[in-house]
Amino acid sequence: MTTSTNRGNLRSRMTAAALALCAALTFNQAVAEGIAIYAGSLFDSEKGNLLKNRTIHIVDGRIESVQKGFAKRDSERLVDLREYTVLPGLMDMHTHLSTEFGPRTYMEAFTWNPADFALRGVDTAHRTLQAGFTTVRDLGDTANVTISLRNAIERGIIDGPRVFTAGKSIATTGGHADPTNGRRRDLMGQPGPVDGVVNGVASAREAVRQRYKDGADLIKITATGGVLSVAKSGQNPQFMEDELEAIVSTAKDYGFTVAVHAHGKEGMERAIRAGVDSIEHGTYMDGETMELMRRYDTWYVPTLLAGEWVTEKSKLEGFFPDMVRVKAATIGPRIKQTFANAYKRGVKIAFGTDSGVSRHGDNGREFALMVDAGMTPADAIRSATWNAAQLLQAEDELGSISAGKHADIVAVAGNPLEDINQLQQVRFVMKGGEIYKEPTDTMNPATE
Ligand SMILES: [Zn+2]
Repeated sequence: MTTSTNRGNLRSRMTAAALALCAALTFNQAVAEGIAIYAGSLFDSEKGNLLKNRTIHIVDGRIESVQKGFAKRDSERLVDLREYTVLPGLMDMHTHLSTEFGPRTYMEAFTWNPADFALRGVDTAHRTLQAGFTTVRDLGDTANVTISLRNAIERGIIDGPRVFTAGKSIATTGGHADPTNGRRRDLMGQPGPVDGVVNGVASAREAVRQRYKDGADLIKITATGGVLSVAKSGQNPQFMEDELEAIVSTAKDYGFTVAVHAHGKEGMERAIRAGVDSIEHGTYMDGETMELMRRYDTWYVPTLLAGEWVTEKSKLEGFFPDMVRVKAATIGPRIKQTFANAYKRGVKIAFGTDSGVSRHGDNGREFALMVDAGMTPADAIRSATWNAAQLLQAEDELGSISAGKHADIVAVAGNPLEDINQLQQVRFVMKGGEIYKEPTDTMNPATE
C-alpha cells in the first residue's frame, strides 16, 4: 500500500523528465504489484555476513522471498541496488523523539505546550527515518506526545520510524524523570502515578496500569540518578526492591517489557534481579553486574553517543546548570569503557543512542563509537537489527531481510563491514515496502 504522503514524497523527488516518462497512475499500479530490489551485497543479520547478488521480492509491505541472482517479474517495479550494500532497517532502542537538548531545554517545561513537543516530534521522526532508522523505542516523553506521534505515523499522516514508546518514564519523588525537579516549591506541585512519579508498591502498580491506559508499548523506569536531571546524584539507587518487583510483575500482566535507566551499580543490580528486560547506559556496572546480567539474560543498551555528547557539552561554560555539569563531566566519559568490558564479557547488547540528548538523525554515529571501543562492525550492525528485534520481542516481524517480515530495508554505498562510517550516510530507506529515500540511479522508469 502506498500512502498519499509517500506518493507526494516520491513525486517531489522525481525529475520533471522522469515524471513525463512515467505517469503517476502507471507507477502506482507497479507498486501495487510488487517491488524487486537487486542487492549487490546483502547483510545477513542473523549470521553477520554479506551475501552477494540477491533479489528481494516485496508484496504488500512485506518481504515475499529473497532469491539468488538478479531476476525481476514483469509486473514488479525494479529498485536497482546492485552497486550498494543492502541491510535490514536500522533500529535504535533508546530515543526521545519529543526532546532535542540545548541550553534552553530546561525552560521548555515552562514555556512549551504539549503541541509544541508533538510538532517537534514530526521533525525528529522524519530525520530519524531519513537516517535509515526504521524502528525506534522512545524511552520517555512529555505529555505522552510520542503515543500520538506513533499513531500518526501508523496512520500515514506523517513520515517516521515504527515507534515503540514508553510514554512518560516512571520515577520516584525527586528521582531522575520526576518532571518537577529543580523547580521553586510552589511550582513543584505533587506529581503522582499519572505523571509518572511513584512511591511504594501501590503507586508503582498504578503507574504501570496508567501507561497501559495511555496506550504505551512498554515501561521505562529510572532506577538510579541521571546526568541531565537537576538533582545532585547521577547514580544513587532510586527504587526499592519491592517497588521494582511491583513494576515488573504488573508490566508482565499487560505484556510490557521494562527498560531501565541506570548509572549506579546498586540500583542497576536491584533492577536486574527484579527481572527487567534492558539496562540503559549502565555506566558503573562492574564484572559482578555483568555476570548478573548474563545470568538473568538482561540486555544492555549502552548509549555511547549520549556519553560522548554530555562530555563535550560539559566543557562549555553555561551550557548546563552547575549541578548537571559536574555529573556530565564525570559520568559521560566512563560509558565507553564499560561498554568495551561488557562486550568482552559477552553481555547481550542492543543498539541505542539516547538521541534527543544528541541530535536526532545523527543516530548512525553510535556505530563508529561501538567499533572504536572494540566491537566488530558486524556485531555493531547486528545490535541494531537482529538483537534489537529480539529485545522488542518482534523477531517474527523485524530485524532481518527474510520472507514474511516487514519490508524495512536500507542501503549504503560502500561496504559497512570495512567502513562503519557508511552507516552515517544511508542512501536508500524503505519502511513497510514504501520508499522514503532513494538515490537517483536506482530508478529505472525505462523498465516500467
Ligand atoms: Zn534517555
